[in-house]
Amino acid sequence: MRLLFLAAVAVGVSLRLWLSRRQEHSVLAHRDEVPAPFRDAIGLDAHQKAADYTVARTRFGRIRIAAGTLLLLLWTVGGGIELLASGFDHHSILGGALFLLCAFAVAAIVTLPLDLYATFVLEEKFGFNRTSPQLYVADLLKGALLGVVIGGPAAAGALWLMQRGGEYWWVALWAGWMALSLFLAWAGPAFLAKLFFKFSPLPEGDLRTRVEGLLGRTGYASDGVFVMDGSRRSAHANAFFAGFGKTKRVVLFDTLCDMLSVPELEAVLAHEIGHFKHRHILSRLTVGAIQGLAILALFAWVKDSAWFQSGLGVTDGSNATALLLLMWAGSVFAFPLRPLWSYWSRKQEYEADAFAKRETSGEAMTGALVRLYEKNASTLTPDPVHSAYYDSHPPAALRIARLK
Ligand SMILES: [Zn+2]
Repeated sequence: MRLLFLAAVAVGVSLRLWLSRRQEHSVLAHRDEVPAPFRDAIGLDAHQKAADYTVARTRFGRIRIAAGTLLLLLWTVGGGIELLASGFDHHSILGGALFLLCAFAVAAIVTLPLDLYATFVLEEKFGFNRTSPQLYVADLLKGALLGVVIGGPAAAGALWLMQRGGEYWWVALWAGWMALSLFLAWAGPAFLAKLFFKFSPLPEGDLRTRVEGLLGRTGYASDGVFVMDGSRRSAHANAFFAGFGKTKRVVLFDTLCDMLSVPELEAVLAHEIGHFKHRHILSRLTVGAIQGLAILALFAWVKDSAWFQSGLGVTDGSNATALLLLMWAGSVFAFPLRPLWSYWSRKQEYEADAFAKRETSGEAMTGALVRLYEKNASTLTPDPVHSAYYDSHPPAALRIARLK
């Protein structure tokens, strides 16, 4: 097990570093010239800012990869989990839950310097950061509180099911995990997000009138179109769709509203409605559920094997340490599946784009995409292999070509 794990870590790290290098080279190789399809719409200054920003983030990403790998090895084969667990009665449900909370807290504190650097140095340097230190601390405390309030009972519940769930405890654990996922997908956008952001209905005006027309035309019966005050934290602009049932909503960042024309905003909104019309949330939840069941079946099979925990550096193993190993070490084995998820997500983006073109216009959607890439300093020239592996959205040039 130890060899298999170390081999998977080594392959994963090499692959990620290789992809990162490719991305950097691709962006730098195209830095001096705006790609032909964008030449009329994007200036050389903006193009070079996007290149520099992407390269800076890619390089910083390599530091994250190195630090993350080192920490994972320290936690597992380095004995970190074993050491931390020895301070808790981790074979009991309560002690195990406390141990899990503590492990996540330590992991968050250890990586805090990297997050601080990303926000206050990297984003700041390119003019994107708007988070004040006070707001950062407040977010951190709220996040920690949510982690304890939701994560604590979830951990205790999981350990209880593992201990008392009988032979098919893993099916019960899966059901519990599904219930939590559905609850978060339902409550997240409507309630939990309100702890961090302010949501307001679209103000009266031209946009509101056109949006109401669009909602009527597409049969999207919802009053859930909101503007979110993303500008308090970052100058980046975006839009997203979330929730289901009564909490279903489309959210536009206020930064986006300032940046796009009314027809372009309408096209972005139509794109998000396209995600609902094609049932993308439901299909993502369904595939996630099937994947989760497969992972837990595998986990049930290995959990009590002598080689599983000891191979990953835990000799006094309990359900709690097994669960932590599943979450942290398991991701190493899930990494090769990433391109499948990315491919599927990009397919859904094309579907949503096509919907936006049908319901509004290809020109408006194209205009919105060009403006978004420019203002967010997103690269127009990603490496194709890097993009195929990671990107949830197709490269701008391909999206625009399809819209035409
Ligand atoms: Zn989309």
